[in-house]
Amino acid sequence: MIVMKFGGSSVANSERIRHVAGIIQNFSDRKPVVVLSAMGDTTDDLLDAADAALSGKVTIDAIEKLHKDTSAALGIPVDGIEKLLGELRTLLTGVSMLRELSPRSKDYLVSFGERLSVRIMAAYLSSQGTPAVFYDAWDIGFFSDSNYTNAELLPDVQENIRASLGPYAEGRAGASTAIPVVTGFIAKDKNGFITTLGRGGSDLTATVIGSALMAEEVQTWKDVNGILTADPRIVKTAQTVPVATYDEVAELAYFGSQVLHPRSMQPCIQTGTPVRVKNSYNIDAPGSIIVTESETELPPVRSITTKKNVTLIDIVSTRMLGQYGFLAKVFDIFAAHNISVDVVATSEVSVSLTVDSKKADFSALTKDLGKYASIEIKKHKAIVTVICDVSRSSSILAVTFEALAREKINIQMISQGASKVNISLICESNEAERVVRLLHDCYFGADGKTPCSFS
Ligand code: ASP
Ligand code: MG
Repeated sequence: MIVMKFGGSSVANSERIRHVAGIIQNFSDRKPVVVLSAMGDTTDDLLDAADAALSGKVTIDAIEKLHKDTSAALGIPVDGIEKLLGELRTLLTGVSMLRELSPRSKDYLVSFGERLSVRIMAAYLSSQGTPAVFYDAWDIGFFSDSNYTNAELLPDVQENIRASLGPYAEGRAGASTAIPVVTGFIAKDKNGFITTLGRGGSDLTATVIGSALMAEEVQTWKDVNGILTADPRIVKTAQTVPVATYDEVAELAYFGSQVLHPRSMQPCIQTGTPVRVKNSYNIDAPGSIIVTESETELPPVRSITTKKNVTLIDIVSTRMLGQYGFLAKVFDIFAAHNISVDVVATSEVSVSLTVDSKKADFSALTKDLGKYASIEIKKHKAIVTVICDVSRSSSILAVTFEALAREKINIQMISQGASKVNISLICESNEAERVVRLLHDCYFGADGKTPCSFS
């Protein structure tokens, strides 16, 4: 069996849904389980509708029109959809009256996107002679903790999925043969409240199903030709990465690439389930395949990504020179403030680290850190992450710093991740894109120029 996951832009309108239904039908003899995101930008539109409701205005016109027009164009009945749209309107009315939206209500609200899209796809496939049945993820056992907007799945989820979809996947006698079409992104907590797995969470839904059912592969269908050597909006000549490892992709996702949900590699790491990234707009492109370990030797650098809006914090111990426990103290303080640290570099008495600028209340943090150390906060920085084979780091760093020095770009901190696949450089935010382009030209060549040679 296989899992086929389609992102929002792959199911953005009736034409795209027809096209994707065709792709699913082509794979129908491989027992696909389909996972869908919300249509197009519906998740963002729902969040905008929530903001409008908070200021007293209830409007779901655009969302309603998209889903009704799509159903009409596909010639499928709208009753199921109308019921959900009615529930959504009631919810937004409640928000507008209370002028209040808790994380729990927010998850309930955005869940409508995926719940609408699976109903449309299952009805359309069935109308085309390919029986399909929709599931809200909890119907097949997706339960999570109550960390609304970024929930963690509970350990029994995989067992639940095997109990509900195992018979279909194994083609057991008497089992339904209708293709399951499952909502990505959402789950329920033990109290029955709807949760979400974080933006882009449908990837995680797909990989959890894939590893639970020991899928031959998990296909994630996007609107790009797979994993790319850089963001194509920054680097016009970005190329597809044919093969990458789970570790590399997890780091890429964490450090700003939108290609897959950061936690989505975890289930497949455990079972070794390959993940294939394909372009639903360009079916013939080979895409990327993500595996435990490549069978052929890979080039030293896989991809470059950047994360802007980070703050660099330099912490120099004033009182703890030569004493132990300094780092422990520092990280305790970050933990107490619920601030997650991305990149770290240390020396005997100092530590430099980066945090997401949006997430930190620096005044409270500085006050606490100030009891033990002198603090310097440097805003408007960016992390440029090179996903590479760190066992070749000397030669990669030599090539990198030569290219940067030639352009007189100063790097303020550097860190080599323990994952063995990541070298991160901190630079000024307004120089980040230039750094990415420069390094991309250097590693992969540009405009007929040959790439730098790694020793
Ligand atoms: N629809 C959700 C989002 O836009 C989940 C997903 O697409 O994976 O984040
Ligand atoms: Mg989406």
